[in-house]
Amino acid sequence: MKKNIHLWATLAFVLLCYGVFRYVHTHPDSAHTVLNFFVFGMAIVSILLLVGCRLYRRNHSSVGISRLCEMVLNLDVPAFIWADDMSTLFTNEAMDEILGISESEDPGDSAVLLTSLFYKMGLTPRDAAERLAGRTYRSVLHSEGSANRYISWSTTVMKEGNFASLYFTTGFEMTELVNAKQSLTSYAQDLAASESRYALSMKLSGIGILLCESIHDVYYVSEEAKKFLGIDTNEITFSDFRMKLHPDDRLEFDNYLNKIRNTEKTTASSKARTMELRIRASAGTPYIWYSYHYHENLTYSTGRPIIGGALIDITGEKYKDATIERLAFLDETTEIANRNKLLQDGPLIFDRCKATNTACWIIVLDIDRFHIINDSTGYENGDKILRNFAHILCKYSTPGGFAARVGADNFVLIVHDYSDYGDEDLPRRTIERIRLDMAEHPDVSFSALPITCSAGYARIPSDGDSFMQALEHAEFALAMGKGELSYMMGYDATMHQEIVSQGEMENELAAAISRREFLLYYQPKVDMHTKKIIGAEALIRWIKPDGTMVSPNVFIPIAERTGMISEISRFVLEEACSQNALWQKSQFTPIVMSINFASGDFYQKNICETIRDVLVRSDLDSKWLELELTERLALGDVSFTIQQMNALREMGILLAMDDFGTGYSSLSYLQQLPLTLLKLDRSFIVEIETDMVAQEIVSAVIKIAKSMKIETIAEGVEFEGQAKILRDMGCDYVQGYLYGKPMPADRFAKRLAEQTVQLETL
Ligand code: C2E
Ligand code: MG
Ligand code: MG
Repeated sequence: MKKNIHLWATLAFVLLCYGVFRYVHTHPDSAHTVLNFFVFGMAIVSILLLVGCRLYRRNHSSVGISRLCEMVLNLDVPAFIWADDMSTLFTNEAMDEILGISESEDPGDSAVLLTSLFYKMGLTPRDAAERLAGRTYRSVLHSEGSANRYISWSTTVMKEGNFASLYFTTGFEMTELVNAKQSLTSYAQDLAASESRYALSMKLSGIGILLCESIHDVYYVSEEAKKFLGIDTNEITFSDFRMKLHPDDRLEFDNYLNKIRNTEKTTASSKARTMELRIRASAGTPYIWYSYHYHENLTYSTGRPIIGGALIDITGEKYKDATIERLAFLDETTEIANRNKLLQDGPLIFDRCKATNTACWIIVLDIDRFHIINDSTGYENGDKILRNFAHILCKYSTPGGFAARVGADNFVLIVHDYSDYGDEDLPRRTIERIRLDMAEHPDVSFSALPITCSAGYARIPSDGDSFMQALEHAEFALAMGKGELSYMMGYDATMHQEIVSQGEMENELAAAISRREFLLYYQPKVDMHTKKIIGAEALIRWIKPDGTMVSPNVFIPIAERTGMISEISRFVLEEACSQNALWQKSQFTPIVMSINFASGDFYQKNICETIRDVLVRSDLDSKWLELELTERLALGDVSFTIQQMNALREMGILLAMDDFGTGYSSLSYLQQLPLTLLKLDRSFIVEIETDMVAQEIVSAVIKIAKSMKIETIAEGVEFEGQAKILRDMGCDYVQGYLYGKPMPADRFAKRLAEQTVQLETL
């Protein structure tokens, strides 16, 4: 509108000028007067306009600006009025502070101040008006030594002019706001970083977190825990969680919840606890073992109580534990309990029987001739036999009892006596059933005939003061069988008496040694084909002063245990060698003298010197002396055995393995020993006519021995039928009642004399 007034005024003036011009042109005579009036009128109008404008300005502008200036002074926020021609600057106190002007100071030139202000605001004086007017402009004011200030400027045009316009600018201090926003941003960034660090570490550590404010029944679930539980959401109710637990672990979890809820929450820290839980992600998937770590007394920093803990997958450890336990307590071959397990659980069974006034039977079982079967038919077959036997035993281990393999072919079976009358026959029945099962079981058969077992048993808790003692008593009962086939014996008090009497016998034996109450008997060893005596086995006899004879089976083990054996052996060695030398001097056909060697003798370092000394003194060539060793003895210190045996063989002494088949040695091991003779144990011979198993074993052993260039002799041959079978099998020599019982030297000499005469007459 303002611009239109100018236009109209200009148009009116032009029209007036044109009218005056036309009038002067048409009336030239009055032109001078008209022009005078026109000029004079124009002068009057100009004066009036000038005065009017002044008055208008004074009345409208000046009055408004001075009011505004007053307002500006009263403002708390920075404010200033300025002209874009830099001619004017009016500031309030807050603005002075920004400009760095103190009250007492001369503010200085407005142009200078404004220029410096604009530069501070990031503007140039030229573009200041354009960038500020009618807008909001934000600037950062840097000042040395103090923090940046953030101000949002708002500018209103107060008066527009052709050459200069007037502006009113107010600043809104944003410093605190910006700082708050910045710290909020960095806090949010820190939080995000910490959260991702936390999430990453949880992921890397594989720990799942469950948290719940104890008033609620919902767990907050971390990402890892979601995977463990097979859920997509971050929450799971206690009841849903409980349903994911293994039924056997639910009660423990319930107890935990009750306890946690009833624990008074304090800010005091509590001890960390652990509970092992099996959780499955969904039905049909396997249960996984987790360790749940928790504190009874968890609270937020706000003091609000919470329930929660960390879940750690421990399935691997569980498997490791199970494997360790398996290795520690399970027999690898048969996968039943081993000796460790028996010694761990046995005492518990013993205590339980005592406490509940019930009874158990502990049965110690041995597979008859297992070692020889194992040797001759291969270890694979042997393992199969052991496994089958173990499974048969498991069948008979009543609840609360168990079966264990405690040695090579030694097993222990514990059966509970559930009768209320004390079933004395229970072990015997059980053993018989086991034997029947062995006979029926196709895998346990060895060459169509069944393998048998022997057993000794004792009653828990009455047959011992402890489990170990009851076990020893059962073992003792078994040992009474001395390798007899299908032997079965229960422990009784008379056996105990026997143990006691052994102590008495020790004293008697010591006295017998000093009184020289020993005598040697000689048993012939005969060539299978010529039927001639080719040797004698010296067998010791203890003749008591009252004339009773004590079997070596009774006193030799005591002598071995007490160390008295060395004196006995020395006597046997000297006596047997000098006897043989004497027979040779009597012109009898020379024979080999065999003496039995005990482990105590064999492990003497100077045994070679001792024997050499005896041979020299008795004037007997070493080739007429044979030492009989047992498998048990030869298996003691293997390297020493080999060394010692080699030394003896180098001296020319013959070496026989006695009682072969009753001990624990393997044929392959025997190959390493410099043996000259293998003595098949009497237990194989006794029933060789009827027992096909025995036949097979003997035949196999003879064959193997032959392949090793070791001669064989059969002990305990009593019947011609036995001899015939052995001869057919290729056995080299025989010894037994059929050819002569052990006899005193004079009777043996007669046999030798007869034989020598026969030979001479041939
Ligand atoms: P061994 O060395 O195996 O001796 C064979 C045993 O079988 C002898 O028993 C012998 O009398 C017996 N015997 C031989 N033929 C038959 C037979 O046809 N039927 C029967 N039923 N038995 C037969 P003995 O003399 O009672 O000796 C038993 C064991 O005592 C010996 O077994 C040996 O281990 C040990 N022994 C005997 N004398 C000595 C010795 O001087 N020193 C050592 N360390 N041990 C000895
Ligand atoms: Mg012998
Ligand atoms: Mg023997």
